[in-house]
Amino acid sequence: MQLIHGKTLGQWYETHPLIEDLVKLREATWFNPFVKKTDLALPEVGLTVDDIKDAAARLKRFSPYLAEVFPETRHQLGILESPLVAVPEYQKSLDKHYHSHSIGSLWLKLDSQLPISGSIKARGGIYEVLKHAEELAIAAGKLKLTDDYRLLAEPEFKAFFSQYSVAVGSTGNLGLSIGIMSAQLGFKASVHMSADARQWKKDKLRAHGVTVVEYESDYSEAVAKGRKESENDPMCYFVDDENSKSLFLGYAVAAYRLAGQLQALSVKVDSEHPLFVYLPCGVGGGPGGVAFGLKAQFGDDVHCIFSEPTHAPCMFLGVYTGLHDKTSVQDFSIDNLTAADGLAVGRPSGFVGKAMQHLLDGYFTLDDDEMYQLLALLARCEKIYIEPSAAAGIPGIYEVLKDKQYLQRMAFSQKQLQQATHIAWVTGGSMVPDTEMNQYIAKGEKFLSESV
Ligand SMILES: *Cc1c(COP(=O)(O)O)cnc(C)c1O
Repeated sequence: MQLIHGKTLGQWYETHPLIEDLVKLREATWFNPFVKKTDLALPEVGLTVDDIKDAAARLKRFSPYLAEVFPETRHQLGILESPLVAVPEYQKSLDKHYHSHSIGSLWLKLDSQLPISGSIKARGGIYEVLKHAEELAIAAGKLKLTDDYRLLAEPEFKAFFSQYSVAVGSTGNLGLSIGIMSAQLGFKASVHMSADARQWKKDKLRAHGVTVVEYESDYSEAVAKGRKESENDPMCYFVDDENSKSLFLGYAVAAYRLAGQLQALSVKVDSEHPLFVYLPCGVGGGPGGVAFGLKAQFGDDVHCIFSEPTHAPCMFLGVYTGLHDKTSVQDFSIDNLTAADGLAVGRPSGFVGKAMQHLLDGYFTLDDDEMYQLLALLARCEKIYIEPSAAAGIPGIYEVLKDKQYLQRMAFSQKQLQQATHIAWVTGGSMVPDTEMNQYIAKGEKFLSESV
């Protein structure tokens, strides 16, 4: 009998019954009974509110530069932020789709529309490249924190950065963000792309002068190869998506901005008005960083839930078994093959899983077919166009409302649920070429028509 981390599959099913659903690719939900109060669990992260403030201040220093070199960011003065929108019509059609009657209000946070790279990776990825550039320029005595960073657009700086290179492993969107930003600053950039990466993302990067290395293997392999190649080159900086604290903090800044947006829209978040946030999860850095920021901002009043494809439930598996990055979905014969390319990750970040496990209320998985239906319905109802990965968080509101055990454990009253705000973090899609987007929608429409 073959053992997986010391146990047979049958033994795993006995000690961890949800593993059977994961292995059999059935949609599954787990609300973690071991979550802790925010003030106890937040220190486990090893990063603080001051670290988030430092990241926000760095992004502010760079904003004049970004407005200068990326004209599409000018109307936000170089602050890369996305809209938060209410979607009452969509919520109604989702109710119909799920034969349900949801209470509370559903909103979408449209990171799909973030400038420069059109996905949540424009937060962490761009932030980490900027931080690296700042450190190099300051160490060389060429830049002070008080300077006008538009300076960095000068040919002198491009020449300076061109001595250095930046590398990353990616399923697509991180590569897009790191590659475009690095190339703009003048770095030599190389992106190691997993087999899932879409052709148009590779083409776009090459058009920006980025070196794209393609692999037949999955994300973890692409990262390992990229890391290895960079190790031998002292002038090369490797963005380590599996462990990076910089990426994580870049994502965390989103929560502070969201707090401002909610306030501007008169949406209350307090113990009587809980906030639920649903985050599509790949390796975990993006959703983990955003959730860290949210917990730092809203404490016990916010409930963060991760969602993953049935074929790539790496974070669910890692936290549920306690094995974190010691295991991969492949260890349990789950194939990591999904149309949700942004989430096609077999092994979770060890850093994020361990740091965040007591702060995340739950995890759920959904089928690829479901993601297509959700994106087609969204296009139909709201004319918002997103990629499959980005739809993964949308069913979260139904997962919460139907789980009596979770609701009871959290002691939510009917009134609190009625007053709750649910935000599905919609993580990418505005840059998907029209022909590809039309295929996504057609696929979703087909599944929808078959399911009635
Ligand atoms: C990368 C990505 C995610 C998840 O981020 P991770 O840091 O990999 O967990 C979600 N959605 C999209 C569209 C992505 O590109």
